[in-house]
Amino acid sequence: MKVESTDGVLSDHYDPRAKVLRLSQQVYYTPSVAAAGIAAHETGHALQDAEDYFPMEARTYIVPVVQLASQIAPWAFVAGLMLNSSALTWAGVMLFGSSFLFALLTLPVEFDASARAKALLVSHGIIGPDQIGGVDKVLDAAAWTYVAAAVSAVGVWLFYVFMMLARGRGAPAVR
Ligand SMILES: [Zn+2]
Repeated sequence: MKVESTDGVLSDHYDPRAKVLRLSQQVYYTPSVAAAGIAAHETGHALQDAEDYFPMEARTYIVPVVQLASQIAPWAFVAGLMLNSSALTWAGVMLFGSSFLFALLTLPVEFDASARAKALLVSHGIIGPDQIGGVDKVLDAAAWTYVAAAVSAVGVWLFYVFMMLARGRGAPAVR
């Protein structure tokens, strides 16, 4: 597997199509505990790919579906409201739900990559037992951003669901 440095801040990623690990300049050139943690996390994604780790595979397959669904969703939703068709509006809400499914699938993939990273760093003697706390801090901070993204995606989706439920129960729509 190739390892390359790439432009941009926080641009570190593993590209499963090209089978290349791309690290930002800050990570590639800095011999710090934080940089080692991030590089090892991305290596974790490469290992997931090598092992056909199911949540990662599933996430890769649903990306085009989510992209298509998130493009159609607002149109179906608005058209449903304008035509007063609750079936069409519900279809829009369900299509919105695909982005929340994607955010949820991201969680096991990210947590697993971080767990692999910590095990690798210690077993290969790259990070001493006294430094693993620093790695934990960096990787936990990254993990929380994915949790926050998932929570907000669920929140937005539930907003639409409850709005539809309230509409169904309440007075007829004002036109
Ligand atoms: Zn990751």
